[in-house]
Amino acid sequence: LETQFLQAQRLESLGTLASGMAHDLNNVLSPILMAVQLLMMKNPDEQSQRLLQRVENNAKRGAALVRQVLSFARGFEGEHTILQLKSLIIEIEQLVKQTFPKNIKVYTSIPDDLYPVSGNATQLYQVLINLVLNARDAMPNGGTLSICAKNLLIDDEYARKHIKACVGSYILLCVSDTGSGMSSEILERIFEPFFTTKEVGQGTGLGLSTVMGIVKSHSGFLKVESSVGQGTQFKVYLKAVEQTQMQPIQDIKLPSGQGE
Ligand code: ADP
Repeated sequence: LETQFLQAQRLESLGTLASGMAHDLNNVLSPILMAVQLLMMKNPDEQSQRLLQRVENNAKRGAALVRQVLSFARGFEGEHTILQLKSLIIEIEQLVKQTFPKNIKVYTSIPDDLYPVSGNATQLYQVLINLVLNARDAMPNGGTLSICAKNLLIDDEYARKHIKACVGSYILLCVSDTGSGMSSEILERIFEPFFTTKEVGQGTGLGLSTVMGIVKSHSGFLKVESSVGQGTQFKVYLKAVEQTQMQPIQDIKLPSGQGE
């Protein structure tokens, strides 16, 4: 299971990395395809026809690959629907409990009445997966991972004290670990694409830039607090769907004199 998710993460990183190249590759493949198709129309002998067919098939495969990579890299543009994040968080909790080393204790806290948000489930899943994988990597000798979610009203005072955000209803997702923590030099750079302190092959440095990209595309906010030797806490603020938009039909009051 874990390998699947690691693979998904690597694929995502690869997508970002390769998207620039994919554009160029498209410009290389299109003229090859066009030329080969023109040559095939010239009734070449059987052997040439076979060879040209091979060129065409492979150029087409290349083009299909490019399309895949491009659509992957455009990941932040996915469709948004109204989501209840509780089940998504529970899914992550189960994955973590099944696959993380046993010396990492896992706690979750999610209220039943967590506000719905408007978003893309796959992308928000990716956000949490990246955060929990980083938390795991920060605790090679074990520790505690907490995943919590809560409803939050950001008013002027909260915005002044904690985060510069528009006032309103939000949900707050926290992922905390009791791991290595980060120095201020590292903390300054963690959202840079390709910044990693992990060994070659262990990290791509695209996890947190992906997280940031997704949170921003959801008009959300991200905050991180860390202290060396103590641990790290990431907070993701997502705007809740206004309750007025969500009013269930049975709550609408009938005019007096009707009903019973
Ligand atoms: P990667 O995980 O591939 O290195 P990320 O963008 O996810 O890339 O993270 C960048 C860097 O931020 C990590 O290499 C690590 O140094 C630091 N980092 C991220 N999360 C944590 C955490 N929970 N605790 C300590 N350091 C962290």
